[in-house]
Amino acid sequence: MLAKIPTHREFDWGYVVTILQVPPDDPELGQDENANWDVNTRTIRINKELPIAERRWCYLHEMRHAWADFEGWASQNCRIKAPQDWEGDEDGEIPSVVFIASRNDVGVVLDEP
Ligand SMILES: [Zn+2]
Repeated sequence: MLAKIPTHREFDWGYVVTILQVPPDDPELGQDENANWDVNTRTIRINKELPIAERRWCYLHEMRHAWADFEGWASQNCRIKAPQDWEGDEDGEIPSVVFIASRNDVGVVLDEP
């Protein structure tokens, strides 16, 4: 299986993550750092001289950081409603995305920002 590392991933609502494979001496890569996630530029950098299996591992690991920051971004940029306030969109469908919080079973709806 040839699983290439993508150059971009787009989450919901236009949150785009850029993935760069850079030389080990890239100034944005810390010393002895093989990969990192920059939330400000929404960019993952990966040492391109690592073996492909390690680069895939780094990619997936940094994507977890990216997704966690995306969750924070979405929470701050989307309107959150209690279930009783849910309303359909123009077609009467429940809007966009529904997250169910497992601890207390309270649902919230995130509208598009
Ligand atoms: Zn980490």
